[in-house]
Amino acid sequence: MAETSTANGSFGTLANAGPMKVKPAHLKRDAYLYIRQSTLRQVQQNTESTQRQYALQQRAVALGWTMEKIHIIDCDLGQSGASTVDREGFQQLVAEVSLGHVGVVLGLEVSRLARNSADWQRLLELCAITDTLILDEDGLYDCNDFNDRLLLGLKGTLSEAELHFLRARMRGGLLNKARRGELASPLPVGLIYDEQKRVRLDPDQQVQQAIRLVFETFRRSGSAFSVVTHFKRSGWHFPSRERTGARKGELTWGTLTSSHVLRILHNPRYAGAFFFGRTRTRTWPDGSRRTQTLPDHEWLVLIPNLHVGYISWEEFQANQDRLRNNAQALGADRRKSPPREGPALLQGFVICGVCGRRMTIRYHTRQGILYPDYICQREKIDHAAPVCQQIPGHPIDSALVKLLLENMTPINLETALSVQKEIVTRHEEANKLRTQQVARAQYEADLAAQRYRRVDPNNRLVASTLEAEWNAALCALQEAQQEYERCRQADLLVIDDELRERVMALTTDFSRVWNDPHTTDQNRKRFVRLLIEDVTLIKSSEIVVHVRFRGGAMQTLTIPAPRRSWQVWTTPQERVQMVDNLLNDYTDEQVAAILNERDLHPGKGGLFRGRLIGNIRRAYGLKSRYERLREAGMLTAKEIANHLSIEECTVKEWRKAGLLRGYLANDKEVYLFEPPGPNAPTKCMGQKLSKRRQIFEANNLQDRTKEVQYEA
Ligand SMILES: [Zn+2]
Repeated sequence: MAETSTANGSFGTLANAGPMKVKPAHLKRDAYLYIRQSTLRQVQQNTESTQRQYALQQRAVALGWTMEKIHIIDCDLGQSGASTVDREGFQQLVAEVSLGHVGVVLGLEVSRLARNSADWQRLLELCAITDTLILDEDGLYDCNDFNDRLLLGLKGTLSEAELHFLRARMRGGLLNKARRGELASPLPVGLIYDEQKRVRLDPDQQVQQAIRLVFETFRRSGSAFSVVTHFKRSGWHFPSRERTGARKGELTWGTLTSSHVLRILHNPRYAGAFFFGRTRTRTWPDGSRRTQTLPDHEWLVLIPNLHVGYISWEEFQANQDRLRNNAQALGADRRKSPPREGPALLQGFVICGVCGRRMTIRYHTRQGILYPDYICQREKIDHAAPVCQQIPGHPIDSALVKLLLENMTPINLETALSVQKEIVTRHEEANKLRTQQVARAQYEADLAAQRYRRVDPNNRLVASTLEAEWNAALCALQEAQQEYERCRQADLLVIDDELRERVMALTTDFSRVWNDPHTTDQNRKRFVRLLIEDVTLIKSSEIVVHVRFRGGAMQTLTIPAPRRSWQVWTTPQERVQMVDNLLNDYTDEQVAAILNERDLHPGKGGLFRGRLIGNIRRAYGLKSRYERLREAGMLTAKEIANHLSIEECTVKEWRKAGLLRGYLANDKEVYLFEPPGPNAPTKCMGQKLSKRRQIFEANNLQDRTKEVQYEA
């Protein structure tokens, strides 16, 4: 830029003015040549100016500095002069000047050392105080000379202004173009520029198809995620164009992710709109740059319906509304967020033990109560892959609370504090030991120093070996001293009596506050956050919970995996056994009644019913009362009727009258009968049934006593 205009003529004046300003005191100090090109492109292309900067070296030699005294600072090549942050070279220069090491500062146009007036003025001030000269292609300046100082100040101001105008001109041109919608900004995939620089749909039909599919699916389903699912299920790929590199402009096909979909839906270009200034980049005091997306009413330029698109402007706006609503419904728990109202204790710091991602929370309601689930669904959101892990939160939360309450007991803390006490008693001993270590290191360093000093300087090989040893000894000494200091600081952390009481009070308070019904879930979460760094969950046959406390302590809990719903509903094994036993003597309905009477319940809860007993029998292969009676040799009514040559209805009457012994076999009033044996009743017309029963019972009683005797 401006460098080329000055050139050789100016060195003539310098030759006159120079020697008067240069004094022996200046020559005693060093000369610093500062070389800078603000961008890497300048570094590559503007080599001529770099060479001119090196040529300044020769000027310094002409003024009386020797080559060895000229230092070149060129580590800022490629850094802009707009701020001193990150410009190590400039900072080094300022440091050297302020220490009074510098006789003259050399630079092509020194005011461009710093394009920022404040930095420049500070450098001038320092040069004045330390009596440092400044030399550029135009001349030699003494900062203590009023005229020189004025000139340098002006040069700095002009330089800053130049930078400003340059920038304003560039940005102004850019903005004007943008306001007309003519700025050629990079287009998203699916849109291209034609030869006349007009925006067209990509002529590749497959690309168009893919973009249209995204919008169509979103129109139908209303969620970015279901677009991803749809693509994945159908095995479709999505195009993207390489923006940079050797393959610039080439089309590649890959899987569609949810961030893709969101970018497409949020991009106004697909609706034929031109926009500019959607983001704002700020430079922070530490020199870092951060980009922020602005709300749409703050965009610098937005021109709807400027070119062809895939959707209408109205549809674009409707899509934005839909996405905003979706985000409110689902997005809240995605990141490590401040504690919210839900009861899930670990909101925001549960980590998936399978893939290492942060798990999110989903609530479900059962009988009016909110239950949290911890769920790892990033892969699902992005790539419509299956959910990595979903773990019911309730058992984990309660185990964790138990752990916290147990750990925060007075007894536990008492132990911890007594350990601390013991440390205090050992404290002095340890300190003595460490002091000795430092003393020994000191002694060795001294010895190495002596050895080095004693050696003949001409014997360079030996000297350098000894110097290295001396160096090592000094390093060891420094390490020992640092270690000593570190340990001493750590010892200071030992808890005194007052602190100890406060800590103890805290533990009793903790369980009280925790269990207080007025404590909100939000506050409970805050407590947990104070104590726990994060929690990692792995679910297999059981749930493994790794808890990392603040301060690094680890604890692992194992929680039985929650039973699946069918397992929850299953009748416990011992109850099935009981049903089996009861079925020897009772029908299904009777068994149910007995169990209900004993206040026993099926797995699902509620009361036993005959039908349920039947289900249990079939599920566990238990024999029914009927089958058991038949196996014991009992006869049906029909069989006994045939046997005794009577009608079935007579069998019924005789059973009621007690002439036949029958057992209820099921809940449909079906009886099975004992074989009548030798004293079988026979038809006896004209005799009353009640009378015959007495005779029958008397006979049978004799039989029974006989049997009993046999058995005995
Ligand atoms: Zn995972």
